[in-house]
Amino acid sequence: MQDIRLNYVNGSWRSGEEQGERRNPSDQNDVVARFAIASSQDVRDAVAAARKGLSSWRAMSPQQRCDILDRVGSEIARRTDELATLLSREEGKTLPEARAEVTKAVHTFKYFSGEAVRVGGASLPSVRAGIDVDVRREPVGVVAMITPWNFPFSIPCWKTAPALAFGNCVILKPSELTSAIAWELAALMHDAGVPPGVFQLLMGDGRVGSALLEEPGIDAVSFTGSAVVGQKIASRAVPRGIKLQLELGGKNPLLVASDADMNKAVDATIKGAFYSSGQRCTASSRIIVESEIHDRFIDELVARTAQLRVGNALDSSTHIGPLVSAAQLERVSGFIEDAAREGVRKAFGGETVQRDTEGFFFQPTIYLDGRMGQTINREEVFGPVVSVFRAGDFDEAVRIANDTPYGLSAGIFTETHSKARAFMRASRSGMVTVNLPTVGSDYHVPFGGNGASGYGPKEMGLGAVEFYTQTKTIYVGD
Ligand code: NAD
Repeated sequence: MQDIRLNYVNGSWRSGEEQGERRNPSDQNDVVARFAIASSQDVRDAVAAARKGLSSWRAMSPQQRCDILDRVGSEIARRTDELATLLSREEGKTLPEARAEVTKAVHTFKYFSGEAVRVGGASLPSVRAGIDVDVRREPVGVVAMITPWNFPFSIPCWKTAPALAFGNCVILKPSELTSAIAWELAALMHDAGVPPGVFQLLMGDGRVGSALLEEPGIDAVSFTGSAVVGQKIASRAVPRGIKLQLELGGKNPLLVASDADMNKAVDATIKGAFYSSGQRCTASSRIIVESEIHDRFIDELVARTAQLRVGNALDSSTHIGPLVSAAQLERVSGFIEDAAREGVRKAFGGETVQRDTEGFFFQPTIYLDGRMGQTINREEVFGPVVSVFRAGDFDEAVRIANDTPYGLSAGIFTETHSKARAFMRASRSGMVTVNLPTVGSDYHVPFGGNGASGYGPKEMGLGAVEFYTQTKTIYVGD
């Protein structure tokens, strides 16, 4: 077991007043970490320290900021296996998934270290004679970040790296379920020489996040999590004029057209719906199949799903690790009960799984004859559960795909160029994939949802530039 992990405020480690504990969701006998819960004094001090940190961070040259972020990226790369093992023990994703997440964090820091020296602006002629116009990008200020447990390392990294690159100070409040891996980010910042006040870590549950939002002195909030909590955060931030970025849930469709490559479409369904136990905001949860190939698709999907092994995330033979917590297992089981009550036809799964160790294991689950009125097809389940819809034709399939207030990720499998293009145009989602799973993204282009899946500028790429900078227009006369 690790020693207690402390909060990080103004360049020092703080013990807070209470402690939390996290156990491995694959093995409840394994205590992953104990951590200090931030006190209200820690919250106040973190905001005050971040405000003071702004001037020292801005006084550093872009090259110095670039070098620090580059060092963080190199150190994460050097420690990939160790960090991935911790991530897997704490969150429950398999080791290959955890390694991929850590590698994404490396790329994110490396990319944004370069952006620190590339931050652009524009120089234009004025429409009036004898005047020059400059549009500069400047930091927003103090940014509070509230993050979920499902990508507990890469999400804090993909918020922190651009925020620091562009000269902001950060207060991170990670999920209480994944404090240990978030703590590693604070330790990396400390060791890389980030000055006091520039990065703060406050651990604890929603009460710490809520207290943080009460503090004056925050200029922007970046939140990733559920729609319910996102709405609470918006109701606090918007009236106070705080710049806001919300990345919320999804009910992501994958359309399988009659001419799709069946093997690839089934493979993408399994990866998108079941891997990471379906606990991805971009997970495919509604598979809409044109009726011509519907029955064959179901046969192949069920046969391939039956071969998946659910088990301990650290076991190399495991395809699907546990759900993150007892509460998440209860939530997913609740949706299964709703489906049974509503008479939804099940083709596979729907049961908890027992293994040698006590963990929150759940079978990949396939429902048939999907209808949008069914609870399981309206709400985000966040578990390894998928519903297959039968669509009479392509137009009906596109209508079903768009029949949700969410709009995060949407995919299509087709060999026909015109169908792919029609889907790209018609989809209301923030991200569209063609002949690829709905999951998976690059770090240099915007990531995020439309409709009920997001609010404000998106993350990563240009989205990060928009959120973590604000423009200043300067007119210069003779
Ligand atoms: P959650 O909304 O329960 O919690 C997210 C964070 O908010 C946690 O740190 C939590 O402690 C904090 N929090 C809870 N109540 C709060 C309050 N009243 N005030 C301030 N902070 C509060 O979400 P979760 O269960 O951790 O994560 C799963 C959700 O995240 C899913 O809905 C998923 O779709 C979403 N998600 C979205 C994206 C995206 O980019 N769109 C990515 C990953 C996850």
